[in-house]
Amino acid sequence: MMKLTILGCSGGVGADLRTTCLQLDDDILIDCGTGAGDLDLEGMRKIDHVFLTHSHMDHIAMLPMLADSAGSFRKIPLVVHALPETIAILKTHVFNSLLWPDYTVQPAPENPYIRFEAIRVGETVFLDGRKITALPALHSVPALGYLFDSGEHSFAFSGDTTLCDAFWEMLKKVGNLRYLMMEATFLKRNIERARISGHMTPGLLSQGLARLEYPAGILITHMEAGRNEETMKEIRASCGQYGPIEVRRGDVFDF
Ligand SMILES: [Zn+2]
Ligand SMILES: [Zn+2]
Repeated sequence: MMKLTILGCSGGVGADLRTTCLQLDDDILIDCGTGAGDLDLEGMRKIDHVFLTHSHMDHIAMLPMLADSAGSFRKIPLVVHALPETIAILKTHVFNSLLWPDYTVQPAPENPYIRFEAIRVGETVFLDGRKITALPALHSVPALGYLFDSGEHSFAFSGDTTLCDAFWEMLKKVGNLRYLMMEATFLKRNIERARISGHMTPGLLSQGLARLEYPAGILITHMEAGRNEETMKEIRASCGQYGPIEVRRGDVFDF
């Protein structure tokens, strides 16, 4: 059994909104948006692995500070799994000794705060019986989704993506899917913006869900801040037969 807690699931910030961060059990984060900032120091110290979907700020915002705050209390580096392209972007633009210290060699090269680990589409990381597999995504920068398999059931997360054929093809091979968490950033009328920036709309979501060959709990995330209600209304109109549910911060899913 795995436990997934939603620490952040909004496309933006403001008051009680937090950007993307999912916690798997006590020791794994998926993305490190502003939701990660709600963990207390003890909670941050327990995080051994972060799996990033892509390099955008709303998904990595807290990573530099989490690494820093927890680092001195940890004995081993935090392992950050991401596409090679994402790692290169973070090294060049974030952990570059200018915007933030290079924690891949600081505070000491033999025991830094962070260790990057490359992961590619289709690859699986095994962590104490838990399987985490990188799924394809189509975004404005190189991006991944992820599949979490407890052995009993699986939970799939799209990350940021527009309609991605390879993603839906890979889902067909999952025999035990319990939940599918999909982004739905833009309203239907913003279809051009969605295509250019690599996001979904309720219309694209209905095209994707039509390819799902078995039932699963459909969870909706990453809607534009302040447009949740309008977006969910469109999703219920075009995808109502799948029983889509809006994910909220604090929600917990066992699978
Ligand atoms: Zn993005
Ligand atoms: Zn995003």
